Amino acid sequence: MKKTLITGAAGFLGSHLCDRFIAEGHYVIGMDNLITGDLKNIAHLFPLENFEFHHHDVSTFVHLEGELDYILHFASPASPIDYLKIPIETLKVGSLGTLNLLGLAKQKNARILVASTSEVYGDPLVHPQSEEYFGNVSPIGPRGVYDEAKRFMESITMAYHRHHGLDTRIVRIFNTYGSRMRLNDGRVVPAFMGQALRGEDLTVFGDGSQTRSFTYIDDQVEGIYRLLMSDYVEPVNIGNPDETTILEFAQEIIKLTGSDQKIIYKELPKDDPLQRQPDISRAKEVLGWEPKVHRSEGLKKVYDYFKSLSPEELQKKEHRDFSNNS
Ligand code: NAD
Ligand code: UDP
Repeated sequence: MKKTLITGAAGFLGSHLCDRFIAEGHYVIGMDNLITGDLKNIAHLFPLENFEFHHHDVSTFVHLEGELDYILHFASPASPIDYLKIPIETLKVGSLGTLNLLGLAKQKNARILVASTSEVYGDPLVHPQSEEYFGNVSPIGPRGVYDEAKRFMESITMAYHRHHGLDTRIVRIFNTYGSRMRLNDGRVVPAFMGQALRGEDLTVFGDGSQTRSFTYIDDQVEGIYRLLMSDYVEPVNIGNPDETTILEFAQEIIKLTGSDQKIIYKELPKDDPLQRQPDISRAKEVLGWEPKVHRSEGLKKVYDYFKSLSPEELQKKEHRDFSNNS
């Protein structure tokens, strides 16, 4: 039985990856410090014999007994609101956390896949973004704490590959949505759906002309799984090229939810990228991967998920209190 460590296991992507690797017959070790995640995302795995959980901050030394075949490093705040509130933790987990996990991979002779992001392209001047594009990132802007940590993550991962011959993979994830996102994490899909469900107006930042390309969770997990199992070492974009403006997206959510909410406009956050669309030629060529789930179908599924939450959870609008973590 293959043994796989997944960091960020109690988060949105990490919990879905735990499900997938367990379904593939792996013994899964989930690790998380619960800073933005929630144990309820993996509660269903606790009774299983091939799952164990370690409550641990991966920015400090990571020790595990026994052999390990794979590591998936997904621990990191991912919502702009989260990483702006915990900037130092974000920098640490992308840098020190990655260093610790690369060290562990080297010690165990394990293959490691690290979760990078379309944010390494910053506010891109090339469109759509292919893996060859170096990006347009402000190191000292507010988003720099996330973007530069992820850029460092990629650099040190390639250094371990080139210098130590470590077996590494880098996925550049584009905006992904699905069940288990925190309703109040500030990201646009839960934000708009929560607003629609509570009967509030939808908050579009700026004039809504900025674009994003949204990927459904099942497509993302499939791409990550294929990349890990491939022999491809360079970064690979995994995302859905179906691009929309945020204003059109808000209108789409209003239509889907059948609500008669209005759209209100708020200030565009600093350095919010104006356009984003993955060039997925590489994923198609080396992984035979492309997204299968159309946005209308994926959004309906995630809306059903948010609708099934308790009224208390739906009304919980305040953002997570990070005061104990700093
Ligand atoms: P999330 O906030 O739901 O999950 C992140 C998890 O990491 C949480 O459970 C959190 O508690 C944990 N964590 C954070 N710091 C940690 C630390 N120091 N030690 C241990 N655990 C820690 O976010 P997500 O959307 O699931 O993102 C997961 C990964 O995917 C992140 O690395 C993120 O950068 C990357 N990513 C996600 C997206 C997306 O659209 N969801 C896009 C690009 C990249
Ligand atoms: N956004 C918005 N209203 C919201 C939340 C987000 O208009 O209530 C916009 C945000 O400014 C960005 C896009 O939606 O242009 C996607 O934001 P998100 O935080 O989901 O991810 P990002 O791609 O910016 O990391």
